[in-house]
Amino acid sequence: DPIISVAQLNKTYDSGTIALDSVDLDIKAGEILALLGPNGAGKTTLISMICGLLSHTSGHVKVGGYDVVADYRKARTLIGLVPQEVMLEPFETVDSTVRFSRGLFGYPPDAGFVETVLRQLSLWDKRDTQIKELSGGMKRRVLIAKALSHHPKVLFLDEPTAGVDVELRKDMWNVVADLKAQGVTILLTTHYIEEAEAIADRVAVIAKGQILLVEDKDALMKRM
Ligand code: ADP
Ligand code: ADP
Repeated sequence: DPIISVAQLNKTYDSGTIALDSVDLDIKAGEILALLGPNGAGKTTLISMICGLLSHTSGHVKVGGYDVVADYRKARTLIGLVPQEVMLEPFETVDSTVRFSRGLFGYPPDAGFVETVLRQLSLWDKRDTQIKELSGGMKRRVLIAKALSHHPKVLFLDEPTAGVDVELRKDMWNVVADLKAQGVTILLTTHYIEEAEAIADRVAVIAKGQILLVEDKDALMKRM
C-alpha cells in the first residue's frame, strides 16, 4: 500500500482560482518523489493539503492509512514539514529549537532522540549555538531537524533549495539522500529540473493544477 495516497483532489480558492484539478498521486514508503513544476503550478497548495493544513474542495488524502481531514491528529504525527520560509527563533539554541518542536507534538523530552536527529544532520557540534550565529546552510539543517523532531515517517520539503547558492544546494541534496538511506519517505517540491534529476526516485510534473505525468526519474531523463 502507498504511504501517501491522493485521490481526485480539487482545490478552488475563494478568489475562484482553480489551484488543483483532479489530482491523483500515490507515494510508496521509502521513496523520494519530486513534484516538479513552474511557479503557480499548485505545488505548495498540494503539499499543504497533504499535511492537512489547508482544506480541500473535494477528494481524499490519506497518510499512513489515515484521512488527513477526518483523522488529522493521527496523520499529523506521521508527517514532518519543512516549510519554504525559514521561521526560527534567533535567540534559541539549536538544541532548544528541536526540543521545543518535539514538545509541540506532545512527545516527552528525549535527549537521546534529539541527539540522534542532531547527529543525523551534522548539527551536534552546534547544539549550544544560537540560531542567529548560524550560516544559511546550518539554518536549513535546523529546519529539517525540527521537522524530524517527532520521528515522522514522511518528510515534506517545500522548495528546499529555492534561492540558495550551488554549494548549499548540493549540501541539501546530500542531506536528503542520507534521510532516504534511513528509510524516510520524502516528497519535495521544486521548480529546478536539476534538483529532481539529482535526488528523486520518481518525478511528478505539475502545471496549472494538473499532474501531467508521473514517471521513474531515469526513464524521464532518458526522454529529455
Ligand atoms: P506553486 O507552489 O506551484 O508556486 P501555489 O500552490 O502557491 O503554486 O499556487 C497555485 C495557484 O493558486 C496560483 O495561481 C496561486 O496564485 C493561487 N493561490 C495560492 N494561494 C492562494 C490563496 N491563498 N488564495 C488565492 N489563490 C491562491
Ligand atoms: P513555526 O511556524 O513557528 O515554525 P509551527 O507551529 O508552524 O511553528 O510548526 C512547528 C513544527 O511542526 C515545525 O517544525 C513544522 O515543520 C511542524 N509542523 C507544522 N505543521 C505540521 C503538520 N501539519 N504536520 C507535521 N508537521 C507540522
